[in-house]
Amino acid sequence: MRIRVSDLCGRFAAGIPPVECATYGLYLEPRAAKREAVQVVEQPSLMPAVQVSNLNKTFRSGRKALCGIKLHVGPGEMVALLGASGSGKSTLLRNMAGLTVGDRGSGEVRMLGRRVQRNGVLARDVRIVRSRIGFIFQQFNLVGRLSLLTNVLAGTLGRVPVWRGTMRWFTAAEKALAMDALAQVGIADYAAQRASTLSGGQQQRAAIARALVQQAEIILADEPIASLDPETAVRVMEILSQINREKNIGVIVSLHQVEFALKYCSRVVALRDGEVVYDGCTENLTPDLLREIYNAQSSRPRERSAKPGLGGLTKTAFNSATDTA
Ligand code: ADP
Ligand code: MG
Repeated sequence: MRIRVSDLCGRFAAGIPPVECATYGLYLEPRAAKREAVQVVEQPSLMPAVQVSNLNKTFRSGRKALCGIKLHVGPGEMVALLGASGSGKSTLLRNMAGLTVGDRGSGEVRMLGRRVQRNGVLARDVRIVRSRIGFIFQQFNLVGRLSLLTNVLAGTLGRVPVWRGTMRWFTAAEKALAMDALAQVGIADYAAQRASTLSGGQQQRAAIARALVQQAEIILADEPIASLDPETAVRVMEILSQINREKNIGVIVSLHQVEFALKYCSRVVALRDGEVVYDGCTENLTPDLLREIYNAQSSRPRERSAKPGLGGLTKTAFNSATDTA
């Protein structure tokens, strides 16, 4: 791993442990990832949010995590990434954010009209596009000993001078922006509290607030509700959905729970063994497709209903399709 000196200052400033630095727009880079020449910038207005072509990823262990992934997501879409554990969801999201690169000579990832990586090499100016991508992790990635407000202010680090980040010196306007973001996710009352003292749901909402302060144009959320109770999970998904609708911020969220995908996302991209096995409307997901996605064998009879909230499928049918996943 190679760490840039400027990144190091920023990370010390916020007290961010190395594993968490990606959350703050400060990234460790794979040693082998040489950067390409600065790219020509395209018009940002109606650029697709995500363009992935022929992306392969093989880990050193020999494990092939992604096989020929092709994906196109328009601006402002809310997409669920489904798939059983180990199907490649996290690896795909990390490749989109430029946190890891695909195999040498394999494919290209463009986000918000800018190249993130091509042929297994990060774009030289990848930091620019990274600063526009909010990444939300299952385990929240807040700095426990810092206040909620400081954690959320870390969202500004991609655009404030390094010395200010180092001193944790934020302007009144930046603090107001952070307070506004905390209010939007309903936890402004906890601004002064240490992050470690907050519940999981509150910490995840803070992570979303940090993406808002970052002024992210797309949010990649990797199983953001996996460690939350059902009620809190609903709250977090509703916040993501609201941000998507009201601010037109694209959201790509990996989920293990099919019902949440059905309720909040109009489009589903499903992975199995590193390949896209379904990409389409949520309504068109059938128990058979779900069985294929989760590679599940069910002995229960199929059930269908006209209930729109479940995309024409009953809860039982979903359970039967997914309970062996
Ligand atoms: P998901 O997020 O869908 O559970 P992942 O993207 O985490 O799946 O993993 C896809 C596959 O790649 C799995 O088989 C997993 O074991 C493997 N994998 C993930 N990360 C690594 C790694 N750092 N080294 C080796 N194999 C990995
Ligand atoms: Mg994962």
